[in-house]
Amino acid sequence: METLELNDLVFEVRRSPRRATLGLTIDRGGELVIHAPESSKRDELARWTRSKLLWVHRKLLDKSGTLPRVRDPEFVSGESFSYLGRRYRLKVVRGAVESLRFDGKNFLLSATARSKATDHFRRWYVQTGRVWLRERVNLLSRKLGVAATRVDVRDLGYRWGSCGKNSVVYFNWKLLQLPVRIADYVIAHELAHLLVPHHGPDLWRILDRSLPDWRDRSEELKVKARDIYWCNDRMNNR
Ligand SMILES: [Zn+2]
Repeated sequence: METLELNDLVFEVRRSPRRATLGLTIDRGGELVIHAPESSKRDELARWTRSKLLWVHRKLLDKSGTLPRVRDPEFVSGESFSYLGRRYRLKVVRGAVESLRFDGKNFLLSATARSKATDHFRRWYVQTGRVWLRERVNLLSRKLGVAATRVDVRDLGYRWGSCGKNSVVYFNWKLLQLPVRIADYVIAHELAHLLVPHHGPDLWRILDRSLPDWRDRSEELKVKARDIYWCNDRMNNR
């Protein structure tokens, strides 16, 4: 069987001399299949499939019943935002010097910064989360016996984390809304990928050893993913 692996997803490639165009299907079990003409080149398949990833992730979320339940924030006083599983209230304030500030109890958003609030929050999560994630990665690295060369936080759309070239690991800022035990699972999962790039028994063995209840956490992740802000509006034109 020919496969193609992209961003933690494995696609089966089915070639046929009768096909003239590329197609993509997801069957009931969540199996991803690329239908391709006999002569399609691998890099062409990868490029095309990459352009369909947002659609694939949406469909997969849909199928697992984890379609976000929470709408994007409106940035009005009283709304709450989660950081590492704890909820904090937003206060929109007039005359604030900083666009967005967290005082340990509340998020204070300047009224004049409301129109760009998504960007301010994203930046806050990235900057605050980067420091926390690096410490957490160090801790779990020792448990797994593997080290990333660099750890960073960015917007990864619907993905939680990604393992780049040269052992660089990225995490989605959206992960930082979830409780620590769930973030730990995602971190351990990505670190395990530094040793085993594919999903399979070798990867599960590493997780069994370092985070014995990782299967429970993985289930919790699916459920809790429905309750966080995704703010994927800007993803549409990628
Ligand atoms: Zn993975």
